[in-house]
Amino acid sequence: MESIFKSIEVFYETKILGYINTLMEYPIKILALIIDLTIVIYLLYKLIKMIKGTRAVQLIKGIAVLIIANFLSEFFSLNILHYLLNSVITYGVLVFIVVFQPELRKMLEQMGSTNIKSFFDTDEDATIESVDKIVDAVEQMSKEKTGALIVFEKESNLGEIVHTGVQINSEISKELIVNIFVPDTPLHDGAVIIKDNKIVAASCILPNTDREGLDRSYGTRHRAGIGLSEVSDAIVVIVSEETGKISIVINGKIASNIHPDVLRKELKKRLKRTNIKNNQITKRIQKISKKKTS
Ligand code: ATP
Ligand code: MG
Repeated sequence: MESIFKSIEVFYETKILGYINTLMEYPIKILALIIDLTIVIYLLYKLIKMIKGTRAVQLIKGIAVLIIANFLSEFFSLNILHYLLNSVITYGVLVFIVVFQPELRKMLEQMGSTNIKSFFDTDEDATIESVDKIVDAVEQMSKEKTGALIVFEKESNLGEIVHTGVQINSEISKELIVNIFVPDTPLHDGAVIIKDNKIVAASCILPNTDREGLDRSYGTRHRAGIGLSEVSDAIVVIVSEETGKISIVINGKIASNIHPDVLRKELKKRLKRTNIKNNQITKRIQKISKKKTS
């Protein structure tokens, strides 16, 4: 026990006090530390955003546990455990690279194709510029009673859902959206995914909700929209083929029969990255439901 306290003391004196002393001696190092921390925190934020909502989250948690266990085993001089963990981590990196080679390649390609402006652009989602065009399309489809399912990707990564459909990666236009949902055309079934001012994919399959007690008028299209919104922060807009009514789904809650102008306002507000807390979302949903026109 005594040796543990001794090693904590030595660690504190040599590493922590030593580091603070160097910082005091060379104030420029404090500036370097601040820049260093800012960059690391920003990169972590980007990484978390990239993997949120994907299966990679579990993997990263596992890696974090291994690294912490490795550090602790070294600190407490558990030599055999430390040797084993070290080997697992060393060979694990190789296995990780081989197994996740396609994903890593895609990630690097994505990083390469991101321009500097959009990399640092955190305040406003580019999709906001296209809200008017999309709502115009929704309004037309509502009048014509064309069924539609449109997903706005936010922070949660929807890569796995995009892969269930047909990738499009096209500029957004009212005409294209209306065209995609024309009945009996190849892309009309399923959902369109909108991200960063682009129509990323069409014909995508969303996870159905298994919630009971939903209004009987909600069929599979509405249930799929609600299902996705239960497992991600995406915003889903639905046009009913049967009634032409427009619905918006946020955080698993659906508000139906809303006016296009209310939809426009709500989308513009919500596509700003302002981190609205859950209870505020619920309040807003209730407000929309009250405002709905018949
Ligand atoms: P509507 O009011 O338009 O009739 P609804 O909620 O009653 O909608 P359905 O009539 O069952 O739903 O609509 C079926 C259509 O919904 C399908 O043709 C398909 O385009 C879409 N859909 C159903 N399930 C899914 C899903 N899991 N993911 C994406 N789209 C789906
Ligand atoms: Mg139906």
